[in-house]
Amino acid sequence: MASSGTGTGSPCGACKFLRRKCASDCVFAPYFCSEQGPARFAAIHKVFGASNVSKLLLHIPVHDRCEAVVTIAYEAQARIRDPVYGCVAHIFALQQQVSKKKHFKPVWSEGNGRDRK
Ligand SMILES: [Zn+2]
Repeated sequence: MASSGTGTGSPCGACKFLRRKCASDCVFAPYFCSEQGPARFAAIHKVFGASNVSKLLLHIPVHDRCEAVVTIAYEAQARIRDPVYGCVAHIFALQQQVSKKKHFKPVWSEGNGRDRK
């Protein structure tokens, strides 16, 4: 019984991109499939670096890692689109939209205590 990586011999998407052997305990394997994984991982590796992301994932409980990979991938793609603001550019745009609609006076916008008595 030799160490056989993911079993079928094909590395996960991350290891495929990094051109390295995929270990049986590879931290990326559950989140990066062999087909779409490499393209997805390319942005993450470019922005954060593979070893930083693997260290980060190891500090996160296993049941939260899937969500973390989704947000890291989102942030990496945003950071490539906009190297200065990253996903904050999107947040600013949404804040602009909200402030343009200020005349609707959403209930949370003013603490005038009108309902208190
Ligand atoms: Zn791997």
